[in-house]
Amino acid sequence: ETTPAPNFIRNQVRDEIEGGQVTKIVTRFPPEPNGFLHIGHAKSICLNFGLAEQMGGECHLRFDDTNPAKEEQAYIDAIKEDVSWLGFEWAGPVRFASDYFDQLYAWAQHLMREGKAYVDDLSPDEIREYRGTLTAPGKPSPYRERSIDENLDLLERMSKGEFGESEKVVRAKIDMASPNINLRDPILYRIRHGSHHQTGDKWKIYPSYDFTHGQSDAIEGITHSICTLEFEDHRPLYEWFLNNLPVPAKPRQIEFARLNLDYTLTSKRKLKLLVDEKIVDGWDDPRMPTISGMRRRGYTPASIRKFCEMIGVTRADGGLVDIAMLTHAIRSDLEDNAPRAMCVLNPLKIVLTNVPEDHEEVYEVPGHPAREDMTMRKVPFGRELYIDQDDFMEDAPKKFFRLAPGKEVRLRNSYVIRCDEVIKDAAGEVTELHCSVDFDTLGKNPEGRKVKGVIHWVSATHGVPMEVRLYDNLFTVEQPDRDKDVDFLDHLNPDSLVVCQAIGEPSLAAATPESRFQFERVGYFCVDRHDSTPEHLVFNRTVGLKDSWAK
Ligand code: ATP
Ligand code: MG
Ligand code: MG
Repeated sequence: ETTPAPNFIRNQVRDEIEGGQVTKIVTRFPPEPNGFLHIGHAKSICLNFGLAEQMGGECHLRFDDTNPAKEEQAYIDAIKEDVSWLGFEWAGPVRFASDYFDQLYAWAQHLMREGKAYVDDLSPDEIREYRGTLTAPGKPSPYRERSIDENLDLLERMSKGEFGESEKVVRAKIDMASPNINLRDPILYRIRHGSHHQTGDKWKIYPSYDFTHGQSDAIEGITHSICTLEFEDHRPLYEWFLNNLPVPAKPRQIEFARLNLDYTLTSKRKLKLLVDEKIVDGWDDPRMPTISGMRRRGYTPASIRKFCEMIGVTRADGGLVDIAMLTHAIRSDLEDNAPRAMCVLNPLKIVLTNVPEDHEEVYEVPGHPAREDMTMRKVPFGRELYIDQDDFMEDAPKKFFRLAPGKEVRLRNSYVIRCDEVIKDAAGEVTELHCSVDFDTLGKNPEGRKVKGVIHWVSATHGVPMEVRLYDNLFTVEQPDRDKDVDFLDHLNPDSLVVCQAIGEPSLAAATPESRFQFERVGYFCVDRHDSTPEHLVFNRTVGLKDSWAK
């Protein structure tokens, strides 16, 4: 086994528990329900739920639902399903930041009474302008010194919908000259008309992320609020709210580096564009780096958790993780656990001229070379077979150890055959091969010569037709969204999906949705959970056989 990857948060929590500063940790995973979860979220899920699991604590699932315009119930349902599928259980009910809207409103009033918040009438553009820059201090809004009573009255009227969407905001009164721009009177509330998926029409104002997150953590008794490094600059504000409000607890924010994976987008906004533009077949298209897409592609929960463990958790930002590390994780899982089968992706017919028409022969073959617990497969053999077009070459070079005119090859689990005749149609395309069997080669080497190649095959009379979808990376470059001036859609891989009309061995006819196989010599495949039926089997390629990740 490889040495465990660093995880500074786990080490820190362990020290705190051993030192007695913390008795039970409580973490949370806080997605905004504005899209499906992707592999980056899996890192955060494994970190938050994993820590709770390993340290005897608990982890909450809390929807960060403060922007109703972009959120939907369908996303909530999908996110819950993904977290459960990964094998994690949240403690207590599913929570919503919107559960705390009443409390947050009372806390906004509290800040106003203390002279620490005000209603501002500046427009969004003016607010931006007044806020200043990294090198220039901001200047105070002319509305900053409103009286407590006026502020409380305007807040109430905002909440009742008396004003238009960008007419007013509520801001904290902190420090317009702070070197940290987040402290230059951050926005606490915005006006939003329109309904919310949880609270309906109750609210016309919605709290900002900053005004919501830490207080929600405090209400829930979160001990460690783990987030990505973009929020490092927000930490002083997170703490300002906790220090200036009568909150029941003081959670701590800890930041870690987000996951960036090569050839992959990890931004819900960009993934949503692929869905909206119908470049992919929905959020769970098997090419999508969403958890549900990876599931449909054939990834196992164990492989995703293993990958998240392998990449570790650090504060070093900017690194790109090699996608070969992800494919390594699923490949090694499937190598150990997926039953084997033979499937011909691009069939070429073979007639074995010295095998009688009514010949019946069935091989009992292990389901997996190293797993005696797996049931044996029955593989029928007969006069007519299919092999893959790639395993035959008419003008073969010397090193081609598959089938060629006059050459021999072994059929996997069966006999050695020789290609005697190539049959072509009027256009000169090869339509079938006539071959002969050496009956003295079952389970033993042929006499007086070496046959190097072994190819897979399927009986033509017993084989089951199936659709096989060969998926590849969606993008042709390592960082499709690196360049701000180039549309990431310019880097789409035109061959990210190739569909084959394949023929599989009969044991595959009974394959149920989401079951996974190694098609020998071809790769790992999974039965599509939506489109496959017993009458029309559909398999998705999860990953090829070759591992390019060097440990
Ligand atoms: P996106 O930019 O894709 O919309 P987000 O951060 O806005 O992502 P949230 O729903 O707010 O999405 O994310 C929930 C949690 O997942 C947050 O704690 C966030 O920090 C974490 N997260 C999101 N993307 C990544 C990533 N690439 N790597 C690690 N953690 C991530
Ligand atoms: Mg977001
Ligand atoms: Mg977010």
